[in-house]
Amino acid sequence: MAQVRNTVSIPVGKDQAHEAQFVSFNGLNDDKEHLALIFKGADHQTVPLVRLHSECLTGDVFHSARCDCGKQLDEAVETMAKTGGIILYLRQEGRGIGLYNKLDAYKLQDSGMNTFEANNALGFDDDLRDFSVAGQMLKALDVQEIDLLTNNPQKTASMEKAGITVRNQNSTGVFYNRHNGHYLSAKVSVANHDIDLREIAV
Ligand SMILES: [Zn+2]
Repeated sequence: MAQVRNTVSIPVGKDQAHEAQFVSFNGLNDDKEHLALIFKGADHQTVPLVRLHSECLTGDVFHSARCDCGKQLDEAVETMAKTGGIILYLRQEGRGIGLYNKLDAYKLQDSGMNTFEANNALGFDDDLRDFSVAGQMLKALDVQEIDLLTNNPQKTASMEKAGITVRNQNSTGVFYNRHNGHYLSAKVSVANHDIDLREIAV
């Protein structure tokens, strides 16, 4: 059984205008330092809005245009600052292959492979992320039922498998730019993400 290790309040977001409780854990089923950020928004939610965000150093920190991670994280922070909610920040960089391997995969993508083909060429499966740890974190927070902020049906399925009831799957925004169109279209065609790309020429 995972348990809450500590909770500390940190101002975050644009202009540091929002307050999030950063929660650390003991007893998670891997040795990584996953975090929960709890936002107490205007509506006190009995069923919280939850975002499972996998770490992406290039996108989250440096706002890389090769993916949409940074924009999705910013959107989650701004949304949850208003409504309340929980971001589970999962330390599984590059769909679980790690930062250096992700950079190797980017290099292969520059020669024409999509994100999944590049991971396969490096000897990895399409997606090595394990979302069961997110279920452990929610249970440690005493959360049994959620609204999940995602376009990825695999995340919803993995939460149900971990024993968490997903009441609604709420879509995220579409953050297209001239560098990430192929990445977004591969998420739709290979991993069945629910992203409406009809308006976008990719
Ligand atoms: Zn990213």
